[in-house]
Amino acid sequence: MFRYANEGREANVNENAQTPMKGAVRDAMNEQIKHEFYSAYLYLSMAGSFETANLPGFARWMRKQSEEEREHAMKLFDFLLDRGEQVQLLPIDQPPSAFRSPLDTFEQALEHEKEITSRIHRLYEFAVQESDYPAQVLLHWFVEEQVEEEKAATEVVERLKLAGEDGAALLLVDKELGER
Ligand code: MG
Repeated sequence: MFRYANEGREANVNENAQTPMKGAVRDAMNEQIKHEFYSAYLYLSMAGSFETANLPGFARWMRKQSEEEREHAMKLFDFLLDRGEQVQLLPIDQPPSAFRSPLDTFEQALEHEKEITSRIHRLYEFAVQESDYPAQVLLHWFVEEQVEEEKAATEVVERLKLAGEDGAALLLVDKELGER
């Protein structure tokens, strides 16, 4: 904190600090950083399992998804810092490493995204309750993003259901996803 010798009074910390965030919003946002990193971890694990199964298209799709999740976490991280808050990074859970099939994998990804959607909605509710308008603006982006995430995962689940046990159809879906 700078103090000017000729000011004649001591600088008051509160006068110079940014508008503080309400604890409930800040803590929930801090917690959400962990969930976004967990998403990145989960999709990276799925990418690895597809790579092992010689399905490079699915693997590439999941790897990109993982990168996007890290960006989501960083958006929240940077927002908290911009608001003058400290970020406390929490431990990330271990994701599953074995998946039964491509369909099972994408069904799990869809379920996970639905869970994230409800977390984002709860976070948004906190921001509304606490009249945190900057948080609401940021969270609008996340609310829209979740619609896209669920849509993308659902499309792949539907295609995999159509492919069924047909190996050639599965390879076609793999090729298509690899173009992401
Ligand atoms: Mg996300």
